[in-house]
Amino acid sequence: MSNRKLHPSTIAVRAQVERTNQMEHSAPLFLTSSFAFNTAEDMRAAFADEVEANIYSRYSNPNVDEFANKMALLEGAEAGFAVASGMAAVSMSFFALLKAGDHLLCSRSMFGGTNTVVTKFLPRFGIEYTLVPADDIAAWEAAVRPNTKMIYLETPTNPQLELIDLEAVGRLAKKHNIIYNVDNCFATPALQTPIDFGADLVIHSATKWLDGQGRVLGGVVVGKKELIHDIYLFCRNTGPSLSPFNAWVLSKSLETLDVRIQRHSENALAIAKHFENHPKLKWVKYPFLPSHPQYAIAQKQMKAGGGIVCLELAGGLESGRRFMDALQILSLTPNLGDSRSIASHPASTTHSKVPPADQLAVGITPGLIRISVGLEHVDDIIYDIEQALEQA
Ligand SMILES: *Cc1c(COP(=O)(O)O)cnc(C)c1O
Repeated sequence: MSNRKLHPSTIAVRAQVERTNQMEHSAPLFLTSSFAFNTAEDMRAAFADEVEANIYSRYSNPNVDEFANKMALLEGAEAGFAVASGMAAVSMSFFALLKAGDHLLCSRSMFGGTNTVVTKFLPRFGIEYTLVPADDIAAWEAAVRPNTKMIYLETPTNPQLELIDLEAVGRLAKKHNIIYNVDNCFATPALQTPIDFGADLVIHSATKWLDGQGRVLGGVVVGKKELIHDIYLFCRNTGPSLSPFNAWVLSKSLETLDVRIQRHSENALAIAKHFENHPKLKWVKYPFLPSHPQYAIAQKQMKAGGGIVCLELAGGLESGRRFMDALQILSLTPNLGDSRSIASHPASTTHSKVPPADQLAVGITPGLIRISVGLEHVDDIIYDIEQALEQA
């Protein structure tokens, strides 16, 4: 590529695996489990790490590396490693870097799967944790212990859309020499680059906005070279490998990330504004609405508000179910970050087994509807939400 410092949207289009002697324009699919060697000596040198060579697709694969490298470039990271899903990325960043006796500090509001790994599985391996309120920096500081090895957070959080001041937590991590690990799934590097605020690692569920079309699972961790190397060694031996096919799809998706996220954000802001004072709603939450409690933080660290809007139905749980049943265009599916708009009702689905008091403690209110705003014409999305609200 050119020596000029390129814009991220150009890198997303142009960064590509080296062209083969077939002179293909679009990156080919390297659907192969292993790689061949001409001589025993070449093979020995590859296994001895004396040369950089693909050996086996559990270790590395050109499509997987292309996707990881592109994500590292977009996030401004030194290196990256891609894995089979967002949860593999989250788990591997914990298991590769933490050991028995270490302490992990997390925000209370975070993705359900991550919460399960932190609170149910890590303790089995002797790793302690503390969950703190997202917006209370003093609480983060107070929870730091001598054995705190990592801070982990997502912002905006899923599904509550709470924001955390990336810069303030970054200062805290630096002061106490703690690994600072950020799940950047909701914002994507098109809107927010946590490394600029001191993050050592950035994680993605590529399944969401990075693919953007609801087709494949994938995950990626990017960040400091030494940390990514430790994650690579752990994954190379434990096996959460990303399929080359999924990586190829994801690399292609990144070419349109910037334009997609801009449109998702424009549609979402228009929807948030349209419904802000609707009589059937208690509130509308969106990072770029001035009524968002952490609007100032959104303005500081995000370029736009992203594609997720949360609505609270005044009628609570049953009203939420009626709203979901009345939708004609929006999909009812447990995914987000798709070109198709999606509605979900956490209280009757993902969080239905959580006792109501515990739901409230993490911001899951009975009438909470999470809208993942798609790329349909915004008037059609508004029409569908409007008519469903009338029946809610
Ligand atoms: C979906 C999601 C994950 C998990 O990703 P998968 O690809 O489903 O494993 C992690 N973090 C956040 C914020 C998510 O939304």
